[in-house]
Amino acid sequence: MCDRRDPANRTPPRDPPGRLRPVTQPQTRPGHPTGHPGGHPGGHPGGHPGGHPHGASRSGLDFDSAPFIAIWETTQACDLSCKHCRACAQPERDSGELTTAEAKALMNRLREFGPIVFVFSGGDCFKRPDIVELVGHGANLGLRMGITPATTSLATKELMIELKRVGLTRLAISLDGSNAAIHDEFRQVQGSFDHGLRILREAQEVGLTTQVNTVIRKANIDDMDAMTTLMTTLGVVFWEVFFLVPMGRAKADDVASAEEFEAVFNQLYDLSKTAPFDIKATAAPQYSRVVMQRKRAESDEDVTEVMTRGMHYSQLDGIGRARNVNDGDGFVFISHTGDVMPSGFLPLKCGNIRDADIIDIYRNSPVFKQLRDRTLLKGKCGTCGYRGSCGGSRARAYAMTGDYLAAEPFCVYHEHG
Ligand code: SF4
Ligand code: SF4
Repeated sequence: MCDRRDPANRTPPRDPPGRLRPVTQPQTRPGHPTGHPGGHPGGHPGGHPGGHPHGASRSGLDFDSAPFIAIWETTQACDLSCKHCRACAQPERDSGELTTAEAKALMNRLREFGPIVFVFSGGDCFKRPDIVELVGHGANLGLRMGITPATTSLATKELMIELKRVGLTRLAISLDGSNAAIHDEFRQVQGSFDHGLRILREAQEVGLTTQVNTVIRKANIDDMDAMTTLMTTLGVVFWEVFFLVPMGRAKADDVASAEEFEAVFNQLYDLSKTAPFDIKATAAPQYSRVVMQRKRAESDEDVTEVMTRGMHYSQLDGIGRARNVNDGDGFVFISHTGDVMPSGFLPLKCGNIRDADIIDIYRNSPVFKQLRDRTLLKGKCGTCGYRGSCGGSRARAYAMTGDYLAAEPFCVYHEHG
């Protein structure tokens, strides 16, 4: 139901004069000479800034009933040792991982939600010897599937050919810098950057669509200009830019400032106007607010959508996107041992698929239900006109304050001052 008194149901105001300046030029980072290209948030075309307090009317999809995307942490085993690793990955597999049969049963049940997006994540999913069998199972079910292997020698062209043969659509790899020095230092293994470029090239050769994921943190913020230049040469359909959440191996000191977030949002928005790929900001729904502000500043008409020019690129392979997805709200994460959480960055166990039904957990867990009710948000997010389309990163609020309904700690916007 839509409560008209709810600030999340009204169109966000144009920014008050003298408050947050309408952005007509790319904002620059402190100490950085020029801004650059820019992007958009998480979702499909359209998207209302104020939106509605519950998923159905915010996105055109009913997130109270079904997620847009489920991410399965296939394993926590990985041969890299990244400084920020959410999973605190180790080289060896955990004996408590879901078995092949359990993983298939999970996919069967998830398919009851509809043909949702299903991502094989990790750890390194290529550490599982049954990965081809599992991808084939998901393809036969009609799930829209992506996979995110680590950038190591385990990602062979032969394996990618097999995955393509059984029905994989998209492969995503991480690149956290524009060169080997930055990326490999972060991933803690030499050669990882070169493997990333090789994997992208070979995946494209075998007919997979490709995506790059990049983690924005204090240490690589000054590499963004070079990174955006590199991205335009890689032939990917999607660039997913993660804004660090201090959990796992990542510390609060590693997170860039709110002002630096804002500068990168503007850079991504600018890039979105010309980039030959779609752009998404993850763990940073406030990017949708920046997109709206920028579009309003550039138009005399009232802008009520967050679609950006490059969004069609990520529709071409059928994976697509949804608007206004947030932790537990259109999104569900299943750990390597079957724990169900609102996202990988919001590690609140709401049940386990070994003794509970994932559909029931997603629809009825008190935590999931609270996360889908944006009238419950606190602080400035609770009164913000962008709450329906943004809502702040619930994972970062939890990591920084212990309260997953608290205000997003890394947003510069103050609607009323
Ligand atoms: S590649 Fe992923 S799973 Fe492996 S250590 Fe890095 S962040 Fe963790
Ligand atoms: S105050 Fe909260 S809801 Fe408003 S734009 Fe910032 S993060 Fe989003």
